[in-house]
Amino acid sequence: MDKKKVTNMEVKKQNRNRVFRYIYRHGTVSNPDIAHEMNMSLPTVTQITKELIEKGLVEEKGELQSTGGRRAKALSAAVNIKQAVGLDITKNHISLVLTNLAGEILNYERIYQPYASEDLYYREVNKKLERFLDESGAVRERILGIGIAFPGIIDLDKRIAESHVLGVESVSFDLVSRFFSYPCFFLNDANAGAYAEGIRPDGPDRFFYLSLSNTVGGAVFYRNELMQGDHFRCGEVGHMTVVADGEPCYCGKKGCLDAYCSASRLSDAAGGKLERFFAALERKEEEAVRLWDRYTSYLAIAVNNIHMVLDCDIILGGYVGSYAEAHIQDIWKKVSERNTFAESGPFVKACSYELGAAALGAALQVTEDFVKQI
Ligand SMILES: [Zn+2]
Repeated sequence: MDKKKVTNMEVKKQNRNRVFRYIYRHGTVSNPDIAHEMNMSLPTVTQITKELIEKGLVEEKGELQSTGGRRAKALSAAVNIKQAVGLDITKNHISLVLTNLAGEILNYERIYQPYASEDLYYREVNKKLERFLDESGAVRERILGIGIAFPGIIDLDKRIAESHVLGVESVSFDLVSRFFSYPCFFLNDANAGAYAEGIRPDGPDRFFYLSLSNTVGGAVFYRNELMQGDHFRCGEVGHMTVVADGEPCYCGKKGCLDAYCSASRLSDAAGGKLERFFAALERKEEEAVRLWDRYTSYLAIAVNNIHMVLDCDIILGGYVGSYAEAHIQDIWKKVSERNTFAESGPFVKACSYELGAAALGAALQVTEDFVKQI
């Protein structure tokens, strides 16, 4: 095939892709709307939407009201024609999310299921996943695949390279995916949380996602992509030193951020329940206030350091991030006291998702791969 032909096909594909995204983001639209908003000719748009209708990706839904002239056909995306599952594996739980092509959360569940590196564990997870799909009324043929978020280093070429927290070292993707009936895609949990934040239609173009769960991690999101690094460890700030020779970290070193800012630093003081900790903080109980002050002091060091390197917004995610909105002014005050430069506004923000961000982000990678190919 000659070069020009390939380029034309590529342009057509890009346009088809843009039009499909426009339709699913705007609900019900018409060909003239799309042509006007996307600065394309009406015949081009009409041809594209015809193709999308033929593929079953767009549906005609009657006519739109008009103030004069011919009424335009109402078009909307068939967002449920394909769906994806997100599975977030942690030390003691699994979270499941079912999403569609528009990234809507159709169902979410968090289940107690302690991790074990054995066949029995994955068989049990598969059983729970199938039950979850039954309860969600999911049509199996529509499932594109499962995005699996894992708390460890994911070598995207072939394997889960390392997870201190689960005690896993070098597990091939095949070893896990053979337990499931759908194609599996693997992702680091912080990367998955970042992806959920960034891929939203109104999501920021670039930011650092600081995942504050029972382990601390992070991810750099830049222009719709996650930066991976030479060894797939980009953003692993949990093991950034914040106190020289400080408290021991589970990785074996001392003074890592994880030793000061994992969610368990807070939940351990409240019988293992983070919500109980934040309720005590709300009541201004002395011990909770003291712990939070200590926690946010180290958090501020980390946020400021990350910002000095990357000069972008820092989004607080993970378990603690889902409670951060109510405390963001206090956190910003501590960060700004450390910051050398004058800023136009706070660069530390709370995440948008309270539940299941990592599971959702993992699922969104699957749907995004599909949408890219439209
Ligand atoms: Zn460490």
